[in-house]
Amino acid sequence: MVVVQDPSVVSRARSELTLQQAQDEVDQWIKTIGVRYFDEMTNLAQLVEEVGEVARILSRTCGEQSYKKGQAPGDLADELADVLFVTICLANQSGINLTDAFHQNLNKKTGRDAVRHQENPKLQSESHSEALSGDTENDEST
Ligand SMILES: [Mg+2]
Repeated sequence: MVVVQDPSVVSRARSELTLQQAQDEVDQWIKTIGVRYFDEMTNLAQLVEEVGEVARILSRTCGEQSYKKGQAPGDLADELADVLFVTICLANQSGINLTDAFHQNLNKKTGRDAVRHQENPKLQSESHSEALSGDTENDEST
């Protein structure tokens, strides 16, 4: 496999990048190197695959799963970038402006969850396991 290093891409990647620039950059990449977009169902499968790769890494680094002997640890940043790339592909081919969608989504969450998380006792503890053990003790439904 030949990796082409375009210096303009590298310098742009190290500076700030707007969502619109990311959408434009992915679109340009798809139409040149990628030939065309995969159809939406294929990209959905790709998205699920990439999310699975993120899950695999996190289950072994933050979760209780272990690595098999000789298994490479994986690169969480690279896998999250894969998730972002496919998400952008789906947005581009669906005519979605991710900047607008992100702001609308954050406004929705802010309105919906204005006090929800502040009133969540599970979030009052610094430790996730403390919160879980405290939750179990107080959970009368089980
Ligand atoms: Mg990947």
